[in-house]
Amino acid sequence: MLKIENLTAEIDGKQILNGLSLEVAAGEVHAIMGPNGAGKSTLSYVLGGRPGYEVTGGSVEFRGQDLLDMEPHERAAAGLFLGFQYPVEIPGVSNVQFLREALNAQRKERGEEPLTGGEFLKLAKEKAGLLKLDMEMLKRNVNVGFSGGEKKRAEMVQMGILDPAFAVLDETDSGLDIDALRVVGEGINAIMRNENKGVLLITHYQRLLDVVQPDKVSILSRGRIVKTGGPELALRLENEGYDAVMGEPA
Ligand code: ADP
Ligand code: MG
Ligand code: MG
Repeated sequence: MLKIENLTAEIDGKQILNGLSLEVAAGEVHAIMGPNGAGKSTLSYVLGGRPGYEVTGGSVEFRGQDLLDMEPHERAAAGLFLGFQYPVEIPGVSNVQFLREALNAQRKERGEEPLTGGEFLKLAKEKAGLLKLDMEMLKRNVNVGFSGGEKKRAEMVQMGILDPAFAVLDETDSGLDIDALRVVGEGINAIMRNENKGVLLITHYQRLLDVVQPDKVSILSRGRIVKTGGPELALRLENEGYDAVMGEPA
């Protein structure tokens, strides 16, 4: 589904990704772990096509297409969803408005009819229920005054509504208490655990991986993948730390 080969990218002339290669097949959850500053968020921004992140080499194939050749909105319409480490606030725009616009823009791009207000509200209620987020929250302005946990749950409602083929989730567990972590993790499973979908799950903690069990775990360090293994790799990192595990031969 996603095939990244020898990707290099820079910000402000500083090279951050240094020949990163990674593949995620349909049906897989691939966890990415790594020390602070390794380039995990940079990878998600590059995949999303964020301005300022300049790709200087390598390739990314997404569902048979050249991802790097696509505009950010084309990537989204092709089924790519990005969850952010720091969700943005949008004063003056309600969640419902925002989500409906986002969904209908993608449907238009794919040549599909927009959902009516009624159809959209039904869908939004279903997904809000899944994430145990009160519909009243969705009537409020996007993320304004939301707690960390509410932002993440609202973002997962957005993911449920857009129903992407592939999600890149950057530290979705940050700032969540134990209960919210379980709700969000189970939401990810419900929305994305499917033989036709894939997930790149960036996290520092095993506790999310207890809920969203990864098929593969890779360690990202200094802008490249230095080790890939199964779920046991995350457990070893938790117990032994990065230095011990990365010090071994790949
Ligand atoms: P991670 O998510 O793994 O903690 P990041 O991708 O956020 O790492 O950052 C990787 C490196 O890129 C860090 O050294 C960080 O300081 C640097 N970096 C991130 N954003 C910028 C920026 N806008 N300008 C310059 N350097 C940046
Ligand atoms: Mg970081
Ligand atoms: Mg980060």
